[in-house]
Amino acid sequence: MPLKNKGVVCINHPNSLMLRNDGFNAITKLEKEDTGGIQFLPESGIPAVVYFCEKCGYLEIYAAAKTPFWDAK
Ligand SMILES: [Zn+2]
Repeated sequence: MPLKNKGVVCINHPNSLMLRNDGFNAITKLEKEDTGGIQFLPESGIPAVVYFCEKCGYLEIYAAAKTPFWDAK
């Protein structure tokens, strides 16, 4: 989504900076089974940073390793 002045701007509210959810989140990996089901693999996935818009609830997700937060202490 639009990155503006080191912030993330809501696609629905172009003048509103989105808030970052504290810490990190993850997109969990899953596998499709031959039986048609799915198996969630919570031990594997993509670390993520999540932003949300307070006005409309729109979410933005970035790969955590590509953000400045990943290397910050
Ligand atoms: Zn919004």
